[in-house]
Amino acid sequence: MNPDKLRKLEQMGLGPVWQRRGLPDTPAQDSLIDAPALADDAAGGPGHDPVLADDISGMDWETLEATIRQCTRCRLCEDRHHAVPGTGDRNARWLFVGEGPGRNEDLQGEPFVGPAGKLLDNMMRALDLARGEQTYIANVVKCRPVGADGRDRPPSADEVSACLPYLKRQIDLIRPQVIVALGKTAAGSLLGLPGDVSLGSLRGQPRSFAGIPLAITYHPAYLLRKPTDKARAWRDLCAARSAIDGH
Ligand code: SF4
Repeated sequence: MNPDKLRKLEQMGLGPVWQRRGLPDTPAQDSLIDAPALADDAAGGPGHDPVLADDISGMDWETLEATIRQCTRCRLCEDRHHAVPGTGDRNARWLFVGEGPGRNEDLQGEPFVGPAGKLLDNMMRALDLARGEQTYIANVVKCRPVGADGRDRPPSADEVSACLPYLKRQIDLIRPQVIVALGKTAAGSLLGLPGDVSLGSLRGQPRSFAGIPLAITYHPAYLLRKPTDKARAWRDLCAARSAIDGH
C-alpha cells in the first residue's frame, strides 16, 4: 500500500488492520450462487395493507420513496418517526445494504448515521468511494424495529418479508455492479435464508442476487464492537471490488 493511502486509512482510525494483505480470488461470474427470487407477496401484519408487491415492482423513484414514507405494510409503521428509504447515487455502482434504521436513523430519516455510519463512510473511503458518489445505502427494512425495552432489535421474518419488495425495486432501479450485504440480516434476507444462519457460513463464497455479485461482510456496528474483524471485512470489500473491476 502506498504511503498516502496508508496515511489516509490511519487518519480515518482504521489503522493497519485495513492494510491490503492480498486479494481473495475474483469470483468467476458463472460460478456465482444466485439467490432465490424474493417472494412477491407481503407478509403484512395486523391490518396491513393495500400496497401490493406487484405495484411496488413498477414504481419509479419518486413514487417508491413516497410510498415507503407512508407505508403501513407491517407493524413497524406504528412506532416510527421517519421511514428511511435510503440515500445515495441512483446510478450507483455499489449498493450497501444494512439491516434497518436504528434510533438515530429513525429520528433523522437517514440511513447509517452516528458511529456505525461514520465507520461505513470510512470503509467506503478506503475503497476510494464516498457516500452519494457511485454508492447507494439502503436497509432491508425501512422503519426502525424497536424492542419491548425500547432498544433497537433485528426485524422479524414477517417484517423482512413485508419490506423486501421495496429493496428489490431499489435494486431493479439502480442495477448496481455489486451489492454489499452488511451483516447477517441483510445477507440472509437477500439469500432467502432463515434468521438463525451464521454470518461466518455466508462470507467468503461467490454469490449473487438477481445476477449481481453479492458480497457479504460484517455490519459496521459489529465492527465497532469487535475491531479485530476489520481485517476480514477489508478482505470481503476487496473481493467485492474485484468482482466489478478486476483489481
Ligand atoms: S418496515 Fe417496510 S413494510 Fe414495514 S411499514 Fe416500514 S416501509 Fe412498510
